[in-house]
Amino acid sequence: MLKKIAILGSTGSIGKQTLEVIEQHPDNFVVEVLTANNSAELLIEQALKYQPNTVVIANKEKYNQVSEALASTDIKVYAGSEAISQVAQMGEIDIVLTAMVGFSGLLPTVNAIKAGKQIALANKETLVVAGDLITKLALENKVSILPVDSEHSAIFQCLVGEFHNPIEKIYLTASGGPFRGKDVEFLRKVTRCQALNHPNWTMGDKITIDSASLMNKGLEAIEAKWLFDLKPEQIEIVVHPQSIVHSLVQFEDGSMKAQMGLPDMRLPIQYALSFPKRLKVSFERFNFLDYPSLTFESADINVFRNLSLAYQAMHKAGNMPCILNAANEIAVDNFLNRKIGFIEMSDIIEKTMEKSTFIASPTFDDYLQSNSEARELATQIIMKKK
Ligand code: MG
Repeated sequence: MLKKIAILGSTGSIGKQTLEVIEQHPDNFVVEVLTANNSAELLIEQALKYQPNTVVIANKEKYNQVSEALASTDIKVYAGSEAISQVAQMGEIDIVLTAMVGFSGLLPTVNAIKAGKQIALANKETLVVAGDLITKLALENKVSILPVDSEHSAIFQCLVGEFHNPIEKIYLTASGGPFRGKDVEFLRKVTRCQALNHPNWTMGDKITIDSASLMNKGLEAIEAKWLFDLKPEQIEIVVHPQSIVHSLVQFEDGSMKAQMGLPDMRLPIQYALSFPKRLKVSFERFNFLDYPSLTFESADINVFRNLSLAYQAMHKAGNMPCILNAANEIAVDNFLNRKIGFIEMSDIIEKTMEKSTFIASPTFDDYLQSNSEARELATQIIMKKK
């Protein structure tokens, strides 16, 4: 059966790799919808190549550019973030792959779930912000949320065939990023360029900074909590610099299963689209002789404070992970714009968590409100520092 795919965020790193996967398997997948935030030129190029039914550009100022370039085709063109939420519900779509950056992924994902679409989730922030409501909504609408994040795909692959065998614990592996083994003094001076230079993975700017600060691993712990219905105590982080073991599950008999392979996001993307099938590909294979030793160490949460802030937020629960995420998005944005230093990101997130209004059982509107409040607070804290 040909699966019809909507890619929300097709011009980003995950979006581009998803198109590569689809191109490799024309008998299995077809592109139905492409959306982009701002990259009109690449969106046009992708639309001409893959001939989707519909494209959306979030930036309304670029509507004319996209619409004129595609005027000679049958492709429908819309603009604005509301349009992205609407196309996620279109009748023809089987799977919505959410690869938007940050909080912006939340509303389209909610709409896609309500319309009964399967979700291939690359936007972890959706579950970090409102994991309780999203998982409940998915259950009510009989929708599966299939992880695209490599660690969560690994856990998911380890669980196939385990039916209802309880998980004792999971180990999320972390590469450790470009600053593994460094101290606080070193981190104080790191530049934007150093932080964007990840040793193993090529990704978008936001997630690359999150990987360098280990916030990405904190967000992934929260994502795992919701995807696999775990308690915070069941989620452990282990630093594994080679990025070959993508994560592990430990069962109640002490047996551990790991999923391994070369670091290549096309594999977890493809598995989320093809599940329960595996499709043949010609990607390079792992060779043991290239990796005579795989090493594991603990993460230094005193140096990488973002990781402990994320665990604090996960333990506190309620809207605290939403606050953490909002403050982090503002902090990363300001670091990328060279307005604050690397270490200051943790200070800003910590202060925002202290000052924001805590809500133990938030509604969907509470989450939207908390997100705005935390963003404003984080921005104010940055302004005051100057
Ligand atoms: Mg990951």
